Amino acid sequence: MTDPEFETLAFLLAGLGVTLNVTDAEGHSLIAGPAPRHDPAAEAPRTVSMNLADGRRLVLVPDAEEQRRNAEARQRFRVLAEHSTDLIVAVDADLVIRFASQSAATLLDLVPEELIGRTLAELLAPEDRAGFIARHFMHASRRGPSGNDLFRALRRDGSALWIEARVVLLPAGNGLGDYLVTLRDAEHRKQAEMALGAANAELSALASTDALTGLANRRMFDTTLRKEWFRALRDGSPLALLMIDIDHFKPLNDRYGHQVGDAYLAAVAQIIERSVRRAGDLAARYGGEEFAIVLPGTTAAGALETAEAIRRAVGAASFEAIVRGGPPVTVSIGIAATVPIAGGGAAALLHSADAALYQAKRNGRNRVEILS
Ligand code: GH3
Ligand code: MG
Ligand code: MG
Repeated sequence: MTDPEFETLAFLLAGLGVTLNVTDAEGHSLIAGPAPRHDPAAEAPRTVSMNLADGRRLVLVPDAEEQRRNAEARQRFRVLAEHSTDLIVAVDADLVIRFASQSAATLLDLVPEELIGRTLAELLAPEDRAGFIARHFMHASRRGPSGNDLFRALRRDGSALWIEARVVLLPAGNGLGDYLVTLRDAEHRKQAEMALGAANAELSALASTDALTGLANRRMFDTTLRKEWFRALRDGSPLALLMIDIDHFKPLNDRYGHQVGDAYLAAVAQIIERSVRRAGDLAARYGGEEFAIVLPGTTAAGALETAEAIRRAVGAASFEAIVRGGPPVTVSIGIAATVPIAGGGAAALLHSADAALYQAKRNGRNRVEILS
């Protein structure tokens, strides 16, 4: 290198806060940068030197101010990493852990040094590993984060801790790793989510249940009938509907009172519920002393059988337990059965079952009718 080239280099290095000194073989100064700013409190600056083949010697002296700033930055990082309640982990591109902060001890009962060299996946419960990687490291190939974002980390004793994570890609050459992963204790959040889930399930059960009989309520019946009608239309499968009405219920109410009437309703509902046991069948309280049953995949013959079984069971039931001398009751049942075709609709099926029920009443009650 020629002296002018060194001059240029010195100028460029000065821009980086580094002073370049060049001496000849005898130690005479050839190029001397400005004397570094003197800071008596600072330690002597670390220098980098290099001997050239011709005996010249290059010494690079970083600006003391620059060094102080670097030391401060390191110190700040250490304080943040050591006192964060989150577990901060740096991993390389293979997700091997290169750095772990002190909170590994509080969160996982593991000393940070134990984590170095292990993979990030090893910190997690086996069943959560694939989901975690997909959620946090595969954004680029997917349409944004998806799925569950709470995962179970494993403590030293193998117990699980619910955590949430943030992952950021680090700039190249940062000296720490390729990704910075922050793991945060999410036990409280998980508990709250589970409580909320249970409350929601309870609410939706309440919203679809009839309080008196425990059967599905009218709203649930309407939804189910519509859903099953479309399913049967799609599959070309049969669908049957039963409308059940207690005979002469008003006189019973008038004689024994409304509360006894309610108990009769609950008892009849139980008999109905016991008669429809196939998955997909739905028994509902349609309103007042009327019940309705949706029977997917059931033909007219099958529906007749179920209806007859219900009619007989109600007629044979004793209500002595409700009120002494409580009389037996009977039901009338109307059936509609069809293989749905486009253009029909669930309403037509309902109308047909209603008409059949009316027919059963007209023909003397305690009967099952189906309109052909
Ligand atoms: P039918 O054989 O023609 O069905 O005669 P019915 O007396 O059963 O028919 P109607 O529709 O005239 O009367 C139904 C009665 O059901 C009216 C009401 O007193 C009673 N009812 C309706 N809902 C309830 C209820 O929630 N609890 C009680 N206890 N009675 C009810
Ligand atoms: Mg009625
Ligand atoms: Mg009635």
